[in-house]
Amino acid sequence: MNKSYLETMPDINGFFGKFGGSFIPPALEKPFEEIKQAYEELKNSSKFIEDLKYVRKHYQGRPTPISFAKNLTNFCGGAKIYLKREDLNHTGAHKLNHCMAEVILAKHLGKKKVIAETGAGQHGVALATAAAYFGLECEIHMGEVDIKKEHPNVVRMRILGAKVVPATHGLKTLKEAVDSAFEAYLANTQNAIYCIGSVVGPHPFPMMVRDFQSIIGFEAREQFFEHEAKLPDVVAACVGGGSNAMGIFSGFIDDKEVELYGVEPMGKGNKIGEHSASLTYGEEGVMHGFNSIMLKDIDGNPAPVYSIGSGIDYPSVGPEHAYLKESGRSKVGLCNDDEAVDAFYKLSQLEGIIPALESAHAVGFAMKLAPSLSKDKTILVSLSGRGDKDIDFVINNYPIPNSKF
Ligand SMILES: *Cc1c(COP(=O)(O)O)cnc(C)c1O
Repeated sequence: MNKSYLETMPDINGFFGKFGGSFIPPALEKPFEEIKQAYEELKNSSKFIEDLKYVRKHYQGRPTPISFAKNLTNFCGGAKIYLKREDLNHTGAHKLNHCMAEVILAKHLGKKKVIAETGAGQHGVALATAAAYFGLECEIHMGEVDIKKEHPNVVRMRILGAKVVPATHGLKTLKEAVDSAFEAYLANTQNAIYCIGSVVGPHPFPMMVRDFQSIIGFEAREQFFEHEAKLPDVVAACVGGGSNAMGIFSGFIDDKEVELYGVEPMGKGNKIGEHSASLTYGEEGVMHGFNSIMLKDIDGNPAPVYSIGSGIDYPSVGPEHAYLKESGRSKVGLCNDDEAVDAFYKLSQLEGIIPALESAHAVGFAMKLAPSLSKDKTILVSLSGRGDKDIDFVINNYPIPNSKF
C-alpha cells in the first residue's frame, strides 16, 4: 500500500520539497534537536495519545461539530456551505489544539516554563491557558504597541497567571516580540521551551503543529459523511501562518478530488503594505528560521503587512502551504477587509454565529465561490475562531447593516 501524504511529508530534515528546513543560530541547534527527538518519541507513545485525547474531550470541548449554514447557503445561492466549528473550542479558537500538546511535550522534557511571542494575544492566551492547566510557568513576549492595542488579551494572560514581557525595541510589534522571546529562550534552554503558535518556524515546528491540528480534519472527514454521505467538493480555511488550514487539509489531503483553498487576506489593496497575501505576491526567502514564500520590501527584508484580521497579518507563510501551492495540490483564495466584514455580519445575522475576523475571510471567500457552483456541490469552511474579541473594533469602524437582505 502507498504511504499516506502525512507519513511522507516533511522529509527527515523538515523539508516540504524545497520549503521548510531549519535555519537557526548554532546555539539553538541542540535545544531544537532535543525537541525533535522528544516529539519523535512521544508521537508514537500511547500515553501521550491518551493524555491528549483526554484533555481534548474532557476539557477543551472536542469534537467540535460541523454546522450546515442553511440560511447563508440560501442567501448566496449555489453550493451548500458547511462550517467546522473551531470557534467552540475552550478559549474560542483552534489554537488550543497545539498549545495543549506543546505543553504536554514541555512536561515530558521536564521543563518548568513555556515561552512564546504573541501578536494580537490569541496565541498568548491559549498558551497561558494550557500552562495553567498543566501547572507550568508561562512567559509571553509582546510588542509594547500591541500591549496597548490588545488590552483585553493582555489582562486575560495576566489573570491566567502568565508573565507578559513588553518588547520595547524597533517597531515594538510582532517581529520584535519574536526577537525578544528567542533571546529569553536562548538564555534559559535548560528550564524552558519555546512554543510556536502556527505551522511556521524551524523544523520540527511546522510538522508538529500540523500534526497537533490535524484533529480538525480527521474529525471533519467523518462528520461530513454524516451530513452528506460523501466528501466535500471544496475545503477552505484562512491562512496566516496556516495552522487551522493545515489542520483541516490534513483530513482530505489524500482525497485528490477534494479541492483545498488557503484563503489569504487582501486587506485594503494589492500594494506592498496594504495586504498580507504572501502566497499570492511573495517570493522564496528565509525568515524566522525557515524557507518559504514571503513578502519582501525593496531591500529584501520582510515587508510591512496589513490585514483587518490581526491573527493573519504575517509576511511569510508555513512552508507546507508554499509546497502544496507549488505542487498544485492546494489553491489560493482571496478575501479583502470589506468582504471579511460583510461575511462577519452575514454569518452573525443569518446563522447566529459571530466569527473571528480571521475566520470571516474564509467565509467571505466561500460566499464568493458558492454561487459559481451548482446546488449539489458542497464547501466546508474552517471557522477557526469566534469573534467576541473583534466586536468593539467592528462596531466602531463598520456600522451594523440595517437589513439582512
Ligand atoms: C491565530 C488565528 C488564526 C491564524 O492562524 P493560522 O495559524 O493561520 O491558523 C486564524 N484564526 C483565528 C481565530 C486565530 O486566532
